Amino acid sequence: MRIALIAHDKMKDDIIDFVRRYKDVFKEQELYATGTTGRLINEIVDLKVHRFLSGPLGGDQQIGAKIAEGNMDLIIFLRDPLTAQPHEPDVTALLRLCDVHCIPVATNLGSAEVMIKALKCRSK
Ligand code: PGA
Repeated sequence: MRIALIAHDKMKDDIIDFVRRYKDVFKEQELYATGTTGRLINEIVDLKVHRFLSGPLGGDQQIGAKIAEGNMDLIIFLRDPLTAQPHEPDVTALLRLCDVHCIPVATNLGSAEVMIKALKCRSK
C-alpha cells in the first residue's frame, strides 16, 4: 500500500513514535513523506521513505498531486491543532483531495492507530 506520512513540527515526536511502534506494518508498505518528516523517519526509525519537498515548500501539494493521479492509498497527517501554519491553504487542499478521491486520511493518533490496526489485520 502507498502511504503518505506528514507531521507538523510539534507532532514530529508523535509520528516517529507511532511509526517505530508499528515498524513491522510500515516496513511492508511503500512509504512517502514530506521532507522533514521523511528524513526523520528514515534516520531514526530506519525505514525507506520517498521524500517530497518540505510541507511549507510544496510537499503537501506534491502528495495532493499523487492523490489526484490515483497514486496514493492512505494518508497519515498528524496536524498541530494549536499552531497556525503558514501553509494552511495547502493543508486544506490536501484534505479536500482526500475527500474528493475517497482516500482514507488520519489527522490524529487515534484515527491513525485504527487505520494501522486494520492494515495489520488485512495483511495477516
Ligand atoms: P515537513 O512538512 O515534514 O517537511 O516538516 C510537514 C508539514 O508541515 O506539512
